[in-house]
Amino acid sequence: MSQAVIQAQFVIGGEAAASVSGEETKVKNPSTGEIAGTVSKGNREDVKRAIDAAEQGFKVWSRTAPAERGAILWKGAKAIEQNLEELAASLTREQGKPIKESRMEIRRFQHTLEYYAGLGKNLRSVQIPMGENRFGMVLKRPIGICGSIIPWNFPISLMGNKLAPGLLAGNAMVVKPASTTPLTAVRTVALLCGAGLPPGTLNLVAGPGSSVGQELLENPKVAKIGFTGATNTGIHVMKAAADTLKRVTLELGGSDPLIVCDDANLDQAVSAASVGRFFNCGQACLAVKRLYVFDSIYDTFVPRLVEKVKKLTVGDGFSRAMLGPLHTDDQRKEVEGQVADAVGRGAKILVGGKRPEGKEYEKGNFLLPTLLENVPYDAQLAQDECFGPALPIFRVKDIEEAVERANNSIYGLGSSIYTSDLYKAHYAAENLQAGYTWVNSGQIMFDELPFGGWKQSGLGQEHGWEALEHYTLSKSVVIATKP
Ligand code: NDP
Repeated sequence: MSQAVIQAQFVIGGEAAASVSGEETKVKNPSTGEIAGTVSKGNREDVKRAIDAAEQGFKVWSRTAPAERGAILWKGAKAIEQNLEELAASLTREQGKPIKESRMEIRRFQHTLEYYAGLGKNLRSVQIPMGENRFGMVLKRPIGICGSIIPWNFPISLMGNKLAPGLLAGNAMVVKPASTTPLTAVRTVALLCGAGLPPGTLNLVAGPGSSVGQELLENPKVAKIGFTGATNTGIHVMKAAADTLKRVTLELGGSDPLIVCDDANLDQAVSAASVGRFFNCGQACLAVKRLYVFDSIYDTFVPRLVEKVKKLTVGDGFSRAMLGPLHTDDQRKEVEGQVADAVGRGAKILVGGKRPEGKEYEKGNFLLPTLLENVPYDAQLAQDECFGPALPIFRVKDIEEAVERANNSIYGLGSSIYTSDLYKAHYAAENLQAGYTWVNSGQIMFDELPFGGWKQSGLGQEHGWEALEHYTLSKSVVIATKP
């Protein structure tokens, strides 16, 4: 694994391109504070260049047969597989996550490409008889140029959720990665272009949301925005996109509940709470962010969870530690502030609640995994999204109370329940207000299943056939066979 500073540029028209201004952004390693790499810093002019290139790419790609598009995506997936170790190392250096989780994320991206590549040979339109001398058809056409705006927590897999269906549907894409995680995205996009995408079909411009992102939102040539990020930013995206009536898919914040019932398999539930909260150092939209435990098992379950969490190790993404650092110091301060707010309102810290001590932690944004109880309902940890390793635990008397309290949130992204009672499982699946409910299962995403947040967690869906619908326009055609 090379530790040389990575130097990245944009990808425009299938080639590496520097910014018009010649400016660069430095990208920091969150574990060490060292410079992991540099990337060209884009502005609105750079985005316009990418959009012009995408216009040319669209002309060729939209006319390419879907089976051929699928074959090129498949080749792209193989190129990702062949470069997995390099991509994973680059991701750990810029994002901070443990190398094992980086490998998982790159594989996830590869699988998403493979899933949509496989659908390439299955795209069909319908023909409808309309009486003797007439029939109708419903055609599916690509939308045009689509902007993809990506956050820093899963910079590659969340990019795949947009690129794979968008490209298979025949669109040309312009990607804006998060400012703090552009390096692996540039390399990934270059590999896909090298797999045979016509020049201009897939482009990437790095730079600030306020200029590069904003140009994508405002430019009238961009027909659709696929966005993943914070709910506030998503609201801004939707308002800005409305001026030119762009289609939007928004995957936003969440505060997912996990309910542990009195009849749950406690070993599995302990593991689900621990992995669900602390994977990616808690920086996941679908992380478990509120834990509701039945009163009758609370005093058995919680000490077991505390023991499990005490054993979680924290450290550099390239060490054997189970948790990496928070992505930025600001992110760490935000979580610390939420924990302090809860404690100030009477909550008790059961484990963690502070930074780890020792020389190896001094330069990174580390924070110990934290469990809290007696968190009041007006505390930030109960009301807001906590994007880091802190989990509030609440007592509930039964399934009805658990679901009611779980639903008491502006968010509706994911949700989970552990129970061996079919009634409770079904009640939760029917009544939890969220786009996903896992029953006795970890929070694993499947390409085959559509995923989209309810309430203020999002609009539209990614994954599954449904994502293709969000990257196509329908057209009804009527054909008279006898004039
Ligand atoms: P942000 O909303 O801050 O940023 C997301 C992306 O939007 C970044 O690329 C950012 O660019 C860009 N952006 C910021 N301002 C603008 C603007 N004015 N116009 C266009 N683009 C802009 O989110 P975070 O990166 O902080 O990600 C964390 C959030 O994402 C959490 O709330 C989390 O829940 C949510 N999330 C949701 C998921 C889901 O599937 N529902 C999955 C993963 C995360 P820049 O980096 O330059 O600021």
